[in-house]
Amino acid sequence: MIRFENVSKHYSGNVTAVDSLDLTIREGEFLVLIGPSGCGKTTTLKMINRLIPLSEGTLWINGKKISEYDIHELRWNIGYVLQQIALFPHMTIEENISIVPELRKWERSRISRRVDELLEMVGLEPAEYRSRKPAELSGGQQQRIGVIRALASDPEIILMDEPFSALDPLSREKLQNDLLELQNRIKKTIVFVTHDIQEALKLGDRICLMNEGRIEQLDTPQGFLEHPANDFVRQFVGGASRQSMFSGNLTLEEILRASGRAEVHADLTGAGAIAGIPASAAVVSADTTLEDALELLAANDIITVEKDGEILGSITRQSLLQFMSERVKAGAVQ
Ligand code: ADP
Ligand code: MG
Repeated sequence: MIRFENVSKHYSGNVTAVDSLDLTIREGEFLVLIGPSGCGKTTTLKMINRLIPLSEGTLWINGKKISEYDIHELRWNIGYVLQQIALFPHMTIEENISIVPELRKWERSRISRRVDELLEMVGLEPAEYRSRKPAELSGGQQQRIGVIRALASDPEIILMDEPFSALDPLSREKLQNDLLELQNRIKKTIVFVTHDIQEALKLGDRICLMNEGRIEQLDTPQGFLEHPANDFVRQFVGGASRQSMFSGNLTLEEILRASGRAEVHADLTGAGAIAGIPASAAVVSADTTLEDALELLAANDIITVEKDGEILGSITRQSLLQFMSERVKAGAVQ
């Protein structure tokens, strides 16, 4: 567990990068730090492994102040992945992955087994890749090595600072999926910085949205979609979710089919059912888009979806938001 207690960071020149931060990151949690450029994400992250000293407050890891840890012990127990692929160009992939295990004086054979295991974990055939140089790998593959190198000595905590933002969209999506799958197996405490809300919604168990060194909202992805705490959050999440959600031009018919919610309101189907629909409900055509449906749901508690005179089902605002957040989480959004 990582606990920030009233932590601030002031840089010279009167910059308060992090302002009285109180934040507890649970063991095994995937926490995403997000916010506009300059809001203090990187500073927050680097204080955890003491790359940046705090100005005020206390930071605890597993109940012990970070200042009380031996610095090597602390760093070795915290994996760190950067945006810039920071592999050593003259070293082989195997040597790159082995750095921390070697510092920790693991036996050769143990290191070798670990390298194979890690390469296999991310789908890179060890026999083929261990003796290659970084330049002989694609950008996506290099960053995959960056991720497994951070895992090499099995640290409890992994810090990742915009690790995928330099990658093309396809590699990026692939690595996000890899990381989710990996995390399902290894259950590390991951603190992941991004400025991309879609990435945050997809990866995070919880998301911490920062602005000017403070927390605007700390919540689950669904919490962000359903209950934005204020206008700043609404704008940050709303803008991005509109962009990502509406690009697919999903219709209500497709949504009902995908979410299997049609049966929920099966009692509304059949002759004369329309007369029984509550007054606050609107009846809309099955080819209504998701975007239009959300607007309708701002004014109506429930909308009923009709096709060729038959009712396919009904959708509430909450069920639609849940559908959206599940889609984001499942990576179905392009
Ligand atoms: P983010 O990662 O969210 O973009 P940073 O944590 O890098 O934000 O920076 C937060 C604020 O602190 C910014 O205003 C930035 O300009 C400032 N800052 C970061 N590093 C330094 C530094 N070494 N010296 C002075 N100001 C800094
Ligand atoms: Mg940063």
